[in-house]
Amino acid sequence: MELELSPLALPGVEEKRPIVIAGPCSAETEEQVMNTATLLASKGIKIFRAGIWKPRTKPGGFEGIGVEGLPWMKRVKQETGMLVATEVATAKHVYECLKAGIDILWVGARTTANPFAVQEIADALKGVDIPVLVKNPVNPDLELWIGALERINGAGLKRLGAIHRGFSSYDKSIYRNLPQWHIPIELRRRIPSLPIFCDPSHIGGKRELVAPLCQQAMDLNFDGLIVESHCTPECAWSDAAQQVTPDVLDYILNLLVIRKETQTTENLSELRKQIDECDNNLIQELAKRMRISREIGTYKKEHEMTILQTGRYNEILEKRGSQGALCGMDVDFIKTVFEAIHKESVRQQMEIYNK
Ligand code: PEP
Ligand code: MN
Repeated sequence: MELELSPLALPGVEEKRPIVIAGPCSAETEEQVMNTATLLASKGIKIFRAGIWKPRTKPGGFEGIGVEGLPWMKRVKQETGMLVATEVATAKHVYECLKAGIDILWVGARTTANPFAVQEIADALKGVDIPVLVKNPVNPDLELWIGALERINGAGLKRLGAIHRGFSSYDKSIYRNLPQWHIPIELRRRIPSLPIFCDPSHIGGKRELVAPLCQQAMDLNFDGLIVESHCTPECAWSDAAQQVTPDVLDYILNLLVIRKETQTTENLSELRKQIDECDNNLIQELAKRMRISREIGTYKKEHEMTILQTGRYNEILEKRGSQGALCGMDVDFIKTVFEAIHKESVRQQMEIYNK
């Protein structure tokens, strides 16, 4: 299904990259919301975020202030002029937000992973014109992410955006959620007109990672940033380790280097020509390698040998890995390349066996 999109068109917000949404993980008290919002507005932030309903991994924690916090959001709008955004996970959340005049809705990562919930939200939004940002699902599934956008678009909402907030992983890493940048990159390729925001707070899980992640997102040409900011982060009721003060956020944003997408100078064209040549050679060499591989396949078949020779496969991975490292490349990268080459070799040899 092709998405039918129109620009986010956020009133009072310049279209300049990055569009910044900032505010606390959760609305906690009226005072915390107003203090944070006032400080952010004084730094020129135009869109305020705060979670009213919080999906928490385990019961017993702070699960959001609920509808009681919606009038605080209204006050933020009235007193600072900022647009306000919050997360919706059910039809009831949608109705409450629309009633309270929330300007922008977002669908959280756990919700995007559940098509029933997304459909319920989409149905509740039928006939409403409000920007909706869809976070990536917790699992690295691009189709599920696009599917959620399609459901909401199918209900007639055209002002859509995506939020990249990283993907959960059982393995320990410096990140709370692995960025897996290739996934939002592929989303951009598939739906070029869809604005993409980066959420460095939930990717990093810690304050120190917010600045470098914002810069990486800008270098990948993301349109916006959604960053958790709290007047007193260390006292936050949720996600304390990853929130920054409005002051720190302002400092981070001022240091960002915003590069342009197209700068096709003569030098760049020349370098691109060289890249094309390298790619051509790579294809020729790969084709040659596959020809030899098919010859080996024929030989193995005639001599009743198995296609897979694990010892040889390991030898290739190890040798090429250390060779690649010597040439300044990442060992895992080389491993991925040679795994892919080996996979195609095996496929071609299987064809010979099945003839
Ligand atoms: C949030 O934005 O506070 C949040 C709950 O994020 P996510 O859905 O990405 O976990
Ligand atoms: Mn949070």
